[in-house]
Amino acid sequence: MEIEIIRNPHPAEKPADESKLGFGKVFTDHMFTMEWHQGRGWHDAKIEPFGRLSLHPASTTLHYGSEIFEGLKAYRQSGSGRIVLFRPQENIARLNRSAVRMGLPELDPDFALEALKKLVEIDSDWVPHGEGTSLYIRPFMFGDDEHLGVHGSKHVRYIVILSPSGSYYAAGINPVDIMIEDEDVRAVKGGTGEAKCGGNYGASVRAGDRAEQRGYAQVLWLDGVERKYIEEVGSMNIMFKIAGKVCTPVLNGSILPGITRKSILELLRSEGTPAEERRISLEELEKAAEDGTLEEAWGCGTAAVVSPVGRLAIGDKVFEINGGRIGATTQHLYDALTGIQWGKSEDKFGWIVPVV
Ligand SMILES: *Cc1c(COP(=O)(O)O)cnc(C)c1O
Repeated sequence: MEIEIIRNPHPAEKPADESKLGFGKVFTDHMFTMEWHQGRGWHDAKIEPFGRLSLHPASTTLHYGSEIFEGLKAYRQSGSGRIVLFRPQENIARLNRSAVRMGLPELDPDFALEALKKLVEIDSDWVPHGEGTSLYIRPFMFGDDEHLGVHGSKHVRYIVILSPSGSYYAAGINPVDIMIEDEDVRAVKGGTGEAKCGGNYGASVRAGDRAEQRGYAQVLWLDGVERKYIEEVGSMNIMFKIAGKVCTPVLNGSILPGITRKSILELLRSEGTPAEERRISLEELEKAAEDGTLEEAWGCGTAAVVSPVGRLAIGDKVFEINGGRIGATTQHLYDALTGIQWGKSEDKFGWIVPVV
């Protein structure tokens, strides 16, 4: 399929001060759009001026939440200035798995990657230059049937928007405080926890807000059935170092299979460091926190790469982890992954995909 390119006749001013970019507030001059109709497949692939969408008030996505998304970044590598993506094929594969779960059509992976690269290339001047900055890429897909019946989608739209984003750790890597969420649950097996769908986020904001009011940055989710096992932290995967061993909850159908999670496991194993994927109970975690064998804890995801946990609240008890400072393993993982992303160290795994 050809991609029609319609240049924006009124390109916007690039943000002058990259330190004020924040996250997801500024958008580039162009977006990729494509439509799907049942019986016809994907058609009308375009890179067009960034702008508002027009939706019918009965559009399925507004009523029934048939929406999925992805999040990845384009990096301007230090030295070469080359603009690269990190494992974009993984995001496309996950988008397709999310699509299947939500009754939405899959994309041709090669074409989807070509479209991503083309869009980033056209707006490449928007990739910020400062250390730790990036161009955040948000592909998303939604059902857009114009009726109120609950059916599989017959009309679907796929869009990619780009947002230059500031350094997540502009003020240095500061460990965050998290608390066990014992009221709401994020997902259950058989539900949509494995899919990156908007509804999962909509259902999680209440717990996040409550945690914030109590002075915590994120919640640590438990499994939705027994409420005994650790699942994720906020919208990141969680990892622990207990008695010298790295472990993370095994993908069980309700946990989002993070690409950062997968990369960290591959990295550790390539270095000969055992990394376990298994069930981790709250009881085990509390015991480890109590007897001091909980050495480190960190969240992992595209936005932060790793986010060390400084304090963990379990009910009324608050445990400090590694004296509230980032641990050696967490720091090593941050340096290793960002080293590859920013072009400071060799990409032994072939994770980097140049845009041009
Ligand atoms: C996106 C996401 C993650 C992290 O995935 P990455 O591919 O590493 O960015 C983890 N948990 C949830 C719920 C997510 O939506």
